[in-house]
Amino acid sequence: MRLDDRLGRPLHDLRVSVTDRCNFRCVYCMPKEVFGHDFRFLERNELLTFEETARLVRLFLAAGVEKVRLTGGEPLVRRDLERLVELIAPMPGLRDLTLTTNGSLLAQKARPLADAGLRRVTVSLDSLDDDVFRRMNDVDFPVGRVLDGIAAAEAAGLAPIKINMVVRRGMNEESVLPMARFFAQRGHILRFIEYMDVGHSNGWRLDDVVPAERIVAMIDAEMPLEPVPANYPGEVADRWRYRDGDGEVGVIASVTQPFCRDCTRARLSAEGELYTCLFAVSGHDLRAPLRDGEGDEALAARIAAIWGARTDRYSEQRSAETAALPKVEMSRIGG
Ligand code: SAM
Ligand code: SF4
Ligand code: SF4
Repeated sequence: MRLDDRLGRPLHDLRVSVTDRCNFRCVYCMPKEVFGHDFRFLERNELLTFEETARLVRLFLAAGVEKVRLTGGEPLVRRDLERLVELIAPMPGLRDLTLTTNGSLLAQKARPLADAGLRRVTVSLDSLDDDVFRRMNDVDFPVGRVLDGIAAAEAAGLAPIKINMVVRRGMNEESVLPMARFFAQRGHILRFIEYMDVGHSNGWRLDDVVPAERIVAMIDAEMPLEPVPANYPGEVADRWRYRDGDGEVGVIASVTQPFCRDCTRARLSAEGELYTCLFAVSGHDLRAPLRDGEGDEALAARIAAIWGARTDRYSEQRSAETAALPKVEMSRIGG
C-alpha cells in the first residue's frame, strides 16, 4: 500500500522512540541545565508497552512503512528492549529493522539484540579524542567503551555499521579527520550530521553549524573523495567514496541543503504520539485511542488521515522565527 501526504510523499520509514531517558547529556541534545535532576521524564505507565508499540508498528507496516528504526532517548536504557525487537522482526512487510544508540551499553546488548532479529545498528560518536568526547556527552563517558560497543556489534553481525557524528563548531571540528581516517580502515560508514535547531533547549545558533560542504572539503584535501549516487530516492545522506580505497562517508546537510521534498519519515514518541516532522510543535496522540480499545481498522484510518494531511517542510522554510518556536525535543522523538 502507498499512502501519500499532501505533497505526494509516501509514508516509508518509521522511527520509534522507546524512551525519553538517556544516560548521556550531549550538549547539543539534552543539556544538563535543562535535563537536570528535577526534569520530569515520562512515568512507566505513560510509555507505550512493547505490545502496544508492536501493534502500532504492524499498522504502520500495513500502511506502507518498510524501514523501522528504534531510537530514544537512549533506546538501550529501556529494559529488555530485545523483547520488542523479537515482536517486530518477523512482521510482514518489514525490509529493515535497525537501531540508533550512543553505544554505551552495546557491549552487553549487541548479541541479545542480534539474536532477537535486529539487523543493523547506527552508533553515534562525536570524537575519538577522549577529552572532546567526554565534554560532548557531558557525563564523563570514555570513548573506549563506545569503541568496545562497536566491536561487539560487529562481532554479532549487526553490519554494515553506521557511525553518526554531529559536528558543532568550536567543539569537535578537529575530530573530523581523525574520525574519517579511523573508520575508513574499518569498513564502517561514517556520516557527518550538521548541528540542527531541534527542540528549544540547546541554544542553537547558525554560527555553530559546520556546513556539510566544508566537512567534505576538509576530508577531500587529505583523502580525495568522489560522489556516489543515492541508494534510493529520499536517502538523506549525500554519499562520497574514497578515490584510492574502499569505504565511504556521508554528510547529512539538513541545515544547508534541506531535503524535505523527499522526506518519507514518521516518528512515534515513547508515549505514543505520532509526529510528521522532526521539528513539529506537537504530535498526534495514538495512545489514548489505543487504550480506549479502538480497533485496528479505526487506528489505521487515523494514521492514514494524519499522514494524508501532512504538509511539513520545516527545513526548507527555516528562519530565525521558526528556530525560536517551541518544538518537540529530539530526545523525545529520536532524531
Ligand atoms: N541516544 C541515541 C543516540 O545518540 O544515538 C539515539 C537518539 S539521538 C536523539 C539520535 C541522533 O540524533 C544521534 O545521532 C544524535 O547525535 C543526533 N542529534 C541529537 N541532537 C542533535 C542536533 N541538535 N543536531 C543534529 N543531530 C542531533
Ligand atoms: Fe542521549 Fe542520544 Fe541525545 Fe546524546 S544524542 S543526549 S546520547 S539521546
Ligand atoms: Fe522531514 Fe521535517 Fe526534516 Fe523536512 S524538516 S526533512 S519534513 S523531518
